[in-house]
Amino acid sequence: MAMLALVSERIAPDRPRNCFTVPVHKAAAVLVGICLLCAACVTGERPVLTGEMLPSTTMPEDEQGALPAASETTTSVAEPTVSEQVAREDARALVTPTGVIVPVLEVTPEEFVIRTPCGETSSLTLGTPIAVARVVLDPGHGGEESGAVGPNGLQEKDLNLEIAQRAMRKLEERGISVVLARTDDYRIPLSTRAEIGNRLGAEVMVSIHHNAPNWLDSNIPGSEIFVQSGSTESRRLGGLLYEEIVGALLQFDVAWTTNDDAGALAVLNSDGEDAYGMIRRPEMPAVLAEFGYLSNPAEADLFLTDEYRDVAAEALAAGIERYLFTDDPGSGFVDEPRIFTPDGSTGGSGGCIDPPLE
Ligand SMILES: [Zn+2]
Repeated sequence: MAMLALVSERIAPDRPRNCFTVPVHKAAAVLVGICLLCAACVTGERPVLTGEMLPSTTMPEDEQGALPAASETTTSVAEPTVSEQVAREDARALVTPTGVIVPVLEVTPEEFVIRTPCGETSSLTLGTPIAVARVVLDPGHGGEESGAVGPNGLQEKDLNLEIAQRAMRKLEERGISVVLARTDDYRIPLSTRAEIGNRLGAEVMVSIHHNAPNWLDSNIPGSEIFVQSGSTESRRLGGLLYEEIVGALLQFDVAWTTNDDAGALAVLNSDGEDAYGMIRRPEMPAVLAEFGYLSNPAEADLFLTDEYRDVAAEALAAGIERYLFTDDPGSGFVDEPRIFTPDGSTGGSGGCIDPPLE
């Protein structure tokens, strides 16, 4: 699949001394696993948080997704030697031999019990385990759910995936471990996307989108970052991403469009709950970023360019990095929540057909 070709470029030439080893199932899958785990091992001068340093033993099933306190993580990581058996036991998600990321529900000596993208319980004997990721990026839509389609034919699902892949590489270059909730062009309901982030104990989850329909003409990008209404950290993440994305996109001379309350804001349904599943379901600070309007011809043509995709991915990576490593408050907040109830016609599991997993 496309991802495997891409990730082969991401292998650090000098693997950190304290990097975990991974079982050799298939060459391509191992490349993915090494990248994911090596990224988790890079320390550099940045503050070291606890997520990458999970002890390689004893994590009860019912604590999946929860990070242990720092004091529990500092004793067993000096020179970790992770056997294949221990690595298997640590799996919270799996890169299947076909490059799809799936949540792991249980590990037995014979197999991984997994959730398929469509939400079924299944099992696999092969795959590369992932124990933890600091960041999960969710490329919106996929498969027959294309999302918005530009006047130039650009499909939102493809654009979202490319920006997620580019941002992943940029974050990994900064030593921040990343997993994508969708790695290719297949259907995956919101419940499975969120479960990948929750199982991995991610500190941040960002769902990546491009908007429709057209609203008002604007001198500045109409980027919208939807935040969790009950979370000050989601709000801060949203404000930082708003700052980075709008600041970066301003370099493009484009006839932008916007909604009249664009910014970093909460969106509530008629019951007063966060309206979007990718805001409501993740158990960590999460946001949904609408970078711009794919329905606007001028923006759609910009989104086709390599330059836009690189700038958008860099802004996403920079905002996440600032969230993780600074106390910056962000900006662009809209205090009044938007009231909107999605029709629920997409993002569910009805009619979902799983991609090949092995
Ligand atoms: Zn979308």
